[in-house]
Amino acid sequence: MDFSNMSLEQFNNQFTTENSCVDYLFSVRWPQGFVCPRCSHRHAYVTSTRRLPLYECCYCRFQVSLISGTVMEGSRTELRKWMLTFFLLARQEKGTTAVELSKIIQVTYKTAWSILHKIRSMIHISNNQIPLTGSISINSAVYGRPFNPSVHKHPREHLLLIAASPNHTEETTTFLKIKHVIPHNPTSRHITRSEIINFQTQHIDSSAQNISITTGLYTPKRLRPLLSITKQASQWINTTFHGLGATHLQLYLEEFILRFSLFSKNISLFPRLVKLCFSIYP
Ligand SMILES: [Zn+2]
Repeated sequence: MDFSNMSLEQFNNQFTTENSCVDYLFSVRWPQGFVCPRCSHRHAYVTSTRRLPLYECCYCRFQVSLISGTVMEGSRTELRKWMLTFFLLARQEKGTTAVELSKIIQVTYKTAWSILHKIRSMIHISNNQIPLTGSISINSAVYGRPFNPSVHKHPREHLLLIAASPNHTEETTTFLKIKHVIPHNPTSRHITRSEIINFQTQHIDSSAQNISITTGLYTPKRLRPLLSITKQASQWINTTFHGLGATHLQLYLEEFILRFSLFSKNISLFPRLVKLCFSIYP
């Protein structure tokens, strides 16, 4: 199924019932048929009397529901609404917001926000699993107030470090990191050497070579080519969410990274989001 060009109506026609979502999610979780998470046995008894089917391994009796261990675990929101959330998030133009989502899937703002927060947290974990390799450029950037004549950081200005591996291949979707740097001194507009080293340690593989670092508040923008990407990130955040504060900025940057990485390679985001659900949520 190609979801990338589907309209909302077409998507709704595809998933009209909870059962249609169960079938789709089962095929994502167990593409070769059921596998017991504990003993790898291939057969299960299915209890269908509950809201969602429960699978009990025929060999070791381990019980697993379709959504246990996923971002949806513990949620009382219907699967259709979760699927619709993935669909709305995967739209190329802008994604979705908690306000819009709450209206479309008819849940409270709090529930919509919580669903999106869980998905973004999952994207964050996934993005951090693989460090960058190859030759790498690192630049400094700022999100927030575009102009500030003072040497001190404006409270709405947020320092960023961005790294990219420009010679990535078609297959690698991990070629970009953007991290919100919170300086020790809250009024400082400088990213220190130790903050850059910290960033490298966490996000760049030790085998990486030719690491070019161009940061610094007064370094001309033309020497920091990755600013064009942080500019796109800022525009997307400002257009979709009308600006953000510091608290959750990193999670929205992670969503941008996933969107940017996949869309620049013409990869559909919807199946990736659903698959992420079943692969890494702690
Ligand atoms: Zn088992």
